[in-house]
Amino acid sequence: MKVGLIRCLQTEDMCPGTVDLKIIREKKGAFANVSEEIELIGFNTCGGCPGKKAVARAAEMVKRGADTIVLCSCITRGTPIGFPCPHAEAMKEAMAKKLGAEIKILDYTH
Ligand code: SF4
Repeated sequence: MKVGLIRCLQTEDMCPGTVDLKIIREKKGAFANVSEEIELIGFNTCGGCPGKKAVARAAEMVKRGADTIVLCSCITRGTPIGFPCPHAEAMKEAMAKKLGAEIKILDYTH
């Protein structure tokens, strides 16, 4: 599995993504059932509200080899402050439309 992560720009000040990286390394959370090797292709932000840049950034990671795009938990679950992104669903839908059915989109990390 070749993974590209998209995270919330607003959350950068309070989270360096340590748990996301650990979860991938230890195959836990959203990666618990992955038996193959997981390679991290890239780690980028949504570009800031309302998250429109996430689509192009995800597409760039696909161009560079990602077969799976992951919206980190800061976006969909609001970690670490319990404040999910109000644009998460629109972001995910736009991404799915742009990337096509061959690219898997996961909507959380942990
Ligand atoms: S669009 Fe959502 S994920 Fe992006 S910075 Fe704003 S709140 Fe965070």
